[in-house]
Amino acid sequence: MGRYLRPTSLEAALLALAEGQWTVLAGGTDHFPARVVTTPDENLLDISALPGLRQIATGDGDRFIPCLATWSDLIAAELPDVFNGLKAAARQVGGVQVQNAGTVLGNVCNASPAADGIPCLLALDASVELASAAGRRVLPLRDFLLGPRRTARRPDELALGLRIPVPTLQARATFEKLGARRYLVISIAMVAAVAEFSPDGRIARARIAVGACGPVATRLPALEAALAGQFPDPALVMQAHLAPLTPIDDIRAPAAYRRTAALELVRRAVAGLALPRAVAA
Ligand SMILES: Cc1cc2nc3c(=O)[nH]c(=O)nc-3n(C[C@H](O)[C@H](O)[C@H](O)COP(=O)(O)OP(=O)(O)OC[C@H]3O[C@@H](n4cnc5c(N)ncnc54)[C@H](O)[C@@H]3O)c2cc1C
Repeated sequence: MGRYLRPTSLEAALLALAEGQWTVLAGGTDHFPARVVTTPDENLLDISALPGLRQIATGDGDRFIPCLATWSDLIAAELPDVFNGLKAAARQVGGVQVQNAGTVLGNVCNASPAADGIPCLLALDASVELASAAGRRVLPLRDFLLGPRRTARRPDELALGLRIPVPTLQARATFEKLGARRYLVISIAMVAAVAEFSPDGRIARARIAVGACGPVATRLPALEAALAGQFPDPALVMQAHLAPLTPIDDIRAPAAYRRTAALELVRRAVAGLALPRAVAA
C-alpha cells in the first residue's frame, strides 16, 4: 500500500518530494479517472491543504495563478480582457463540479494533448514556476511541455503556479472548441488567440495556438506574422499557416477532419479578435 500525505506547509511538501517518490494530487479530476481500471501502488502527496496557493494574485506586470486555483476561481476572478479566452475555456471544462475541483495548473501538469487550458496559456505566453527544496525556477510553458503526459518537472519539484504577463497594449483573446457535443466533452480541436493592438486598431502582436492536433498544443508562427500590422480578418488565415499541426486519427475524429475543423476554428478565433465597432450616434 502506498502512503498518503497531506502537508499543511509548502516546506513540508517540498521536503517530502526531496526525500521520496510521490504522485502529486491537486483536484484529482484527471488523477482518479486514470485509475479506474487499475490502481497503481503509489505514494500520494495531496497538496490541497497548502496555505496561500489558491487566490490569483496581481504581480508586477503579470498575474500569478497558483497551483490550487480552480477553473471556478479563474471564472470568478477579476482579470484583464486578455484572460477572456482562458475564461471561455474554463467555462467549457467538463461541468461545474469539475470546474469547482479541477485546477488550472493540474490541467497543464497532466499534459494531455486535449487539455483545453494549454492553448490559451500558450497564447498568453505563460510560464510555469517550479519549486523544490533546492530552489525555484521558471520555465516558459512551451519548454515545460515535452509531449503527451510528459513535462519538464523533476520528481522533486512541485509546480507552484503560472505566471502570465499582462500586455501594456490593449489586448483581446478568444477561444474556440469543437467537441462531439456542447458540454462534458473532450475536444476534437480547439484554438486560442490573443492579439495586442496598436492605437490605430491594427494588430501589433498575435499569438495563436491549436490543441488536440498534435502531441502538444502548437503555436502558428507564420499566421502570427501574417496578422501583424493587419486588422483582424479571418480571410488572412490560409491552410498553409496550419502546417505545424500533426493531427492523428483517433476515437474522436480522423486526422483529415481535425485539419479541416482546425482551419475553421482558427478563422473564427481571428474573427472574434475584431474590436467592437463604435456605435454610430
Ligand atoms: C468529467 C470530466 C470532464 C472533464 N472535462 C475536461 C474538459 O472539457 N477539458 C479539459 O481540458 N479537461 C477536462 N477534464 C480534465 C480535468 O478536469 C482537468 O485537466 C483539470 O484541470 C485537472 O486538474 P486537477 O487539479 O483535478 O488535477 P489532478 O487530477 O489532481 O492532477 C492532474 C495531473 O497533474 C499533476 N499535478 C497536479 N497539480 C500539480 C502540481 N501543482 N505540481 C505537480 N504536478 C501536479 C498530478 O500529479 C497529475 O498527474 C475533465 C475531467 C473530468 C473528470
